[in-house]
Amino acid sequence: TPLPMILGHEGVGEVAEIVGEKTDLFGRPLHEGDPVLWERGVMCGECYYCTIRKEPSLCPTRKTYGISYSCEEPPHLLGCYGEYLHLRSGHPMIKLDLDVAPEVLVPATCSGATAAHAVEQSALEPGDFALVVGPGPVGLFVLAQLLDAGAGEVWVAGTSADGGRLKMAGQFGASETINVDETSPDEIRDAVMERTRGVGANVIMDCTGYAPVVGHWIDLVAPGGTYSIPGIATPQDEISIELFRTLARKNVRLQGVWVSDTSHLWRAANLVAGGRYPFEKLITHKFPLEEATHALEVTESKESVKAVLLP
Ligand code: ZN
Repeated sequence: TPLPMILGHEGVGEVAEIVGEKTDLFGRPLHEGDPVLWERGVMCGECYYCTIRKEPSLCPTRKTYGISYSCEEPPHLLGCYGEYLHLRSGHPMIKLDLDVAPEVLVPATCSGATAAHAVEQSALEPGDFALVVGPGPVGLFVLAQLLDAGAGEVWVAGTSADGGRLKMAGQFGASETINVDETSPDEIRDAVMERTRGVGANVIMDCTGYAPVVGHWIDLVAPGGTYSIPGIATPQDEISIELFRTLARKNVRLQGVWVSDTSHLWRAANLVAGGRYPFEKLITHKFPLEEATHALEVTESKESVKAVLLP
């Protein structure tokens, strides 16, 4: 993260000015005043991962608005904590015709897109039992994506500090919510095994972003299932797992999830706009741009689920 920087990689906006002509990715002309979404990542579109593997998330030169650009480099306005963001020509944009308030779409542009990517990679089958650990924005989006993809049942686990978020998980459709500070590992194991007739969880989505958590949950994955780690977005301490018993003997897949591409953004935006889940509840706080530091403090304290800046 090259400083100084304008932060902010999740955002929704309105076209202020266009140089030349520009269409959105459906070929619709964009005009000043149009509400728009855009891909937060800048991929080359020409490399092995962008073309042959069709996994632009893995583009080796991928950069992200609000994360990878210093505001010292032209055109300077490259993060969403600002009144203006300068998007490169050729950048994928979507003219918004979705029936939803702009601030409710903000988390779809990173948390939601990453969640869509995680569920796509999870090999979930209709009727599967899934467990989400960590009910933050990514976890709640994962919950909704799992249900939308046909999960038979989704349980969500969190800590006492996640109290409000666990309650929200129930409102999103989690069948059970587990407070790990009040429930022993044995009680959790017994409950999952009983509910799944001894099979275990077909998919576990670890959205905590905290590596030691893996050791607490990975044994609950059913043979043939997936343990996914969409929460891991920064370097972590090493962890130790016994490969034969944990993965090999059970055909279990340990799945990394790195960011997302425009298909996932589109899927997340549609999920939000579809109205089947109460995504408006995610936006617990709104602040003017001048209070961005306070917004970050509120986020760190977990007092908010999503705090949105309204520049
Ligand atoms: Zn590329």
